[in-house]
Amino acid sequence: MADLEAFRAETRDWLEANCPAEMRQPMRDESDACWGGRNPVFKSDAQKAWMEAMAARGWTVPDWPRDYGGGGLSPEETKILRQEMARIGARNPLYSFGISMLGPALLKYGTEAQKRHYLPQIARGEIRWCQGYSEPNAGSDLASLQTRAEDKGDHWLVNGQKVWTSYADKADWIFCLVRTDPKAPKHQGISFLLFDMASPGVSTKPILLISGYSPFCETFFDDVRVPKDQVVGEVNKGWDVAKYLLGHEREMISGMGLGSQPGSLGESLGEVLADDPLLRAEVARFDVDALAFRAMSERFIDELKAGRAHPAQPSMMKYAGTELNKARHELMMAAGGSNALEWESERSRAGKAAREWLRTKANSIEGGTSEIQLGIIAKRILELPGG
Ligand SMILES: Cc1cc2nc3c(=O)[nH]c(=O)nc-3n(C[C@H](O)[C@H](O)[C@H](O)COP(=O)(O)OP(=O)(O)OC[C@H]3O[C@@H](n4cnc5c(N)ncnc54)[C@H](O)[C@@H]3O)c2cc1C
Repeated sequence: MADLEAFRAETRDWLEANCPAEMRQPMRDESDACWGGRNPVFKSDAQKAWMEAMAARGWTVPDWPRDYGGGGLSPEETKILRQEMARIGARNPLYSFGISMLGPALLKYGTEAQKRHYLPQIARGEIRWCQGYSEPNAGSDLASLQTRAEDKGDHWLVNGQKVWTSYADKADWIFCLVRTDPKAPKHQGISFLLFDMASPGVSTKPILLISGYSPFCETFFDDVRVPKDQVVGEVNKGWDVAKYLLGHEREMISGMGLGSQPGSLGESLGEVLADDPLLRAEVARFDVDALAFRAMSERFIDELKAGRAHPAQPSMMKYAGTELNKARHELMMAAGGSNALEWESERSRAGKAAREWLRTKANSIEGGTSEIQLGIIAKRILELPGG
């Protein structure tokens, strides 16, 4: 215990000395995030300095082993680091699908050579990854995917199409599900492949949304040659890797349920609720649910890190966290009235509230819809008969 107290004091001092003041302010929107990559874009010197200082300590991935670029911290130390960062409002130094999704899958299924090659680069934010799971006819029914990788002896030849590939046009590499045995039952003929988005034959086409943003792409593979050693896990057993990664993706997305501001919604809305007893009651009910969610998340994350989690736990967290986040933004819009719908004005900070409210609608779709999570919970936890 004394060791942990010493660690807390040391961490506090280090953060105080190394986290620039600008990195202690909440992000305005997604574009403020640092994504790293082959050609990283930093919004300011402070953002660059903060990312590099954290990466040098392995604290972009504090609980990964030091040999793979991590901080080698125990679960307790990792928790203390998070608490101390939250205490000063320190931003996450690096957002990365490599950290939250691919890394855990490589740690479990990668060869030693793959771990030593990819993980340190992920920790230092040198490769920006995208996720090639969904296809036009394979979303919730993901194992129906048809993108094909043929064994050509010394390489794989990949042909097919992915869709909803977030930031594919900005990514350096992709982790991709491909069919390697078209004759096998659908869950058994899939492999998990990594390749460079700069490979000849890869192209992306951004999908423009009604909001004017374009975070997704259609991604096309036309005779893409991929070296043989870039399969993670066994050939034709990629479904196991895919599901394990999805557990981590769902755990990450469930974090939305915690909200981005400290304190309760009631506190942040304050005066606005004074004259509206009905809204006040709804917000109070929400705050009780949010407290329960926070307690559940802490317990689940501890169990997950200790390897004691039920495999369907991320589905519970994802369902509860994303539905909660949607409810939070519905209440914020209700409290804001028609002003909250302002789309373009200085007062509305370029429609921040309305845009965030709309973005939450996707939370219960990305990473597997709420209906799919409920199906998993019904089958795997409640043991109800499944279709
Ligand atoms: C913001 C965002 C980011 C995304 N990023 C990526 C990415 O980077 N990479 C990637 O590969 N994909 C990405 N996706 C795609 C996402 O994973 C799929 O949209 C999701 O899995 C749902 O698939 P679908 O869109 O094909 O919908 P469908 O599967 O067609 O579902 C349509 C509706 O039917 C319901 N439904 C379907 N099957 C069942 C069932 N068996 N029981 C009950 N209801 C059912 C669904 O719940 C949903 O309401 C992203 C999606 C969003 C919204």
